[in-house]
Amino acid sequence: MSDELSGQVAVVTGASRGIGRACAIELAKHGANIVVNYTSNADAAEGCKKAIEAEGVKALIVQANVSKSEQAQQLIATAEEQFGKVDILVNNAGINRDRTVQRMAVKEWQEVIETDLSSMFYCTNAVVTGMRDRGYGRIINMSSIIGQMGNLGQSNYAAAKAGMIAFTKSTAKELARFNITVNAVCPGFVATDMVQALDDKIKETLISQIPIGRFGTPEEVAATVRFLCTEGSFYTGAQMSLNGGQYM
Ligand code: NAP
Repeated sequence: MSDELSGQVAVVTGASRGIGRACAIELAKHGANIVVNYTSNADAAEGCKKAIEAEGVKALIVQANVSKSEQAQQLIATAEEQFGKVDILVNNAGINRDRTVQRMAVKEWQEVIETDLSSMFYCTNAVVTGMRDRGYGRIINMSSIIGQMGNLGQSNYAAAKAGMIAFTKSTAKELARFNITVNAVCPGFVATDMVQALDDKIKETLISQIPIGRFGTPEEVAATVRFLCTEGSFYTGAQMSLNGGQYM
């Protein structure tokens, strides 16, 4: 463990599995205490908590559906009550509901926009007052290559992820003067439940489009998030693209 983030507190939304879990553990390895948010998978959240505590820092599990404004506000309020502050917010929780635009149900559109895009506003809105008062903050928004290039059957997801990039740029401009940086991380395809759920043929086709010839790992994404919190102090409003060369 290194101690670069010692004494800091990070809230990671959707930290029970996949990329969020890897981010939570990576920040813990560098000394931060972690709030592990999840919505439905309590066992997975417990597993993440144990992995964090093994790094010698504190972990607190908070169940909250961050697509609901009151629950997102409650998540941040609980973090501040229990740990006294939030220094790092990783807006990572996300879902996909893939369907062509013609066939997409209003519910599928709304669920993705609310979970992937609105949750970021709810959590950021709740956390910035404390960050401004203390004169420090690192906000990282988990966007996607799909928000940069678009994709068949993902108009809802692409709109949400592109919205995250635009939100990142606007809030980066608003908050820089308070020593709060806001950055988007735009991973390509990463081997998590979200991608493993795809049909094998689709996975093969996707890998053939990636010059590096494989999916990314959650740990590679987490290293980028950690970099933004440690050495990355001159980055704000950036899109950190890591996609094996699939989109340049
Ligand atoms: P994942 O393995 O499906 O995990 C999703 C996580 O989000 C889980 O911890 C889940 O909690 C949580 N979550 C879902 N809805 C939530 C809600 N309403 N409130 C709170 N937590 C919620 O996904 P992933 O692949 O790690 O993706 C994480 C993020 O990276 C997403 O924003 C995704 O869009 C983005 N991303 C992924 C890829 C990729 O290829 N995997 C590429 C680019 C960007 P439960 O365990 O309780 O369900």
